[in-house]
Amino acid sequence: MTDPSPLLDVRGLTKRFYGSLALDRVSFSLARGEIHALVGENGAGKSTFIKILAGVYDADEGEIRLEGAPVEPRSRNLPLAFVHQDPALVDDLSVAENIAFIAGYPRRHGLIDWRGVQRQTSAIYETMRIPPIDPRRLVATLSTPEKAILNIVRTLAHTPKVLVLDEPTAALPEQDAHRLFDAMRRLREQGASIIYVSHRLHELFGLADRITVFRDGRNVHTGAMADITGGGIVEHMLGRAVELGHRGHPPPRREAPVLTVEGLVVDRRGPLDFTLRPGEVLGLVGLRGGGQEAVGRTLFGAKRAEAGTMTLAGRRLGADERIGERIAAGIVLLAGDRTGESTFPGMSLIENLFPNPLIRARSPFRLTSPAAERRQTRERLDRFDVRPRNEAALIDWLSGGNQQKVCLARWLEADARVVILEEPTAGVDIGAKIAIHRMLREAAAAGRAILVISSDLEEVATLCDRALVIDRGRAAGELSGSRLTVDGLIALSTLGGGATPPAPEGAAPASRAPDGAAATAFGG
Ligand code: ADP
Ligand code: MG
Repeated sequence: MTDPSPLLDVRGLTKRFYGSLALDRVSFSLARGEIHALVGENGAGKSTFIKILAGVYDADEGEIRLEGAPVEPRSRNLPLAFVHQDPALVDDLSVAENIAFIAGYPRRHGLIDWRGVQRQTSAIYETMRIPPIDPRRLVATLSTPEKAILNIVRTLAHTPKVLVLDEPTAALPEQDAHRLFDAMRRLREQGASIIYVSHRLHELFGLADRITVFRDGRNVHTGAMADITGGGIVEHMLGRAVELGHRGHPPPRREAPVLTVEGLVVDRRGPLDFTLRPGEVLGLVGLRGGGQEAVGRTLFGAKRAEAGTMTLAGRRLGADERIGERIAAGIVLLAGDRTGESTFPGMSLIENLFPNPLIRARSPFRLTSPAAERRQTRERLDRFDVRPRNEAALIDWLSGGNQQKVCLARWLEADARVVILEEPTAGVDIGAKIAIHRMLREAAAAGRAILVISSDLEEVATLCDRALVIDRGRAAGELSGSRLTVDGLIALSTLGGGATPPAPEGAAPASRAPDGAAATAFGG
């Protein structure tokens, strides 16, 4: 695209942190009314670039022009609005107050008009066609996706010329991400320009006009979105051709199911039936409030079922069994909230790999000596390509992708029959993502049964043999083989939720369609 007068024009931007080069002579232009995707592996320099635009950091070299005029680094009053990765919401204020904080408080007779604030808030959610949340709710009580949406809604509340979104959909269920994309397209029609940072490449097709790829602090590619493929983008990101390794998994062995779930009801949502075979990777996906997380947690003994049976290798699991008994039986779960639930912060990699004594009881190695534990740890760090390869390092020092590899090494090495993973690659970079997927396929090939609960539809389509779309605790449909695609999953989850308006989180399933409607309409 030739761009005679870009809205924003950046030339030769360089930024060093303590001598290391975070940005190396980066040039970048943003046209009027375009959505410009910015991608790159973790550490490529995307956030640094955006923080320089935002005036958080000063560049060491280079220039920024807005509508042709140089931008003074220190008097930045740019018509730019930013949605950062970590929302800076105020927990102790209500939803409406958090919006008014940015958009300005309406006043009546010199006083803040609180009813006006609430009306304004509801109106913003309505124009974005996002199911509203009660504007009076305290932010502390919102779920992660609700906070992510509020963070975006809040920024859209005043219409900027340039909108910069840094990985806004990481915490969003697919459905809400699509609402956000609609809102972005509407803003583009109104003339806004958008820089959009994302790790989810499939989102960018049909949304972005152009794409820029950063690698090691440099701009290695800028071009039209229509001229590039997903594989082409990944090649620019990594600087080499990659085998994405999907499709053509060997068909799962036709063994008897290792796990059978019948009539499962959790949190008044269900009933759900499914089976899982050794060697199979099964995905559970769904809309917010679909109940797919609750299914995994119930299998792991962290939640109690209200009805139904679960059978593991011919043995019926007792309703009163807790996590320890489930681990001993061979069901393990890697929680989505890695730092909160799956790692042992402040402890070394050894301690994270051998959290005694539960794991040791199940371990085929029956380790006894610290020397043996150290040796085993080193072997695993090697095999799972964990960096740094230092068993005494604290888990806290590792990047998200490496922490996740340690968690996987712990569970895949304990001889579990069923491995349940929540969002296995959320927030990790593409290199680690590919490595984690390969490990999971290897574990399946070795006979493990793997249940992946993920909102990353590209991941489910790439990694899984089969996927169930869960809607309010029931299977709205199943996809496998060549039908298991991102589009297929989006179609099924959108349609599956389409019979009734999406229920607010935690709502009773009172408003659902007559029994079986969703299942019969989209099953098979
Ligand atoms: P991305 O957003 O693409 O993941 P970043 O811009 O966050 O990349 O990081 C680029 C490089 O700059 C990385 O090597 C990172 O470690 C480094 N870096 C970023 N912020 C800082 C900082 N405040 N201090 C020191 N180094 C930093
Ligand atoms: Mg970043």
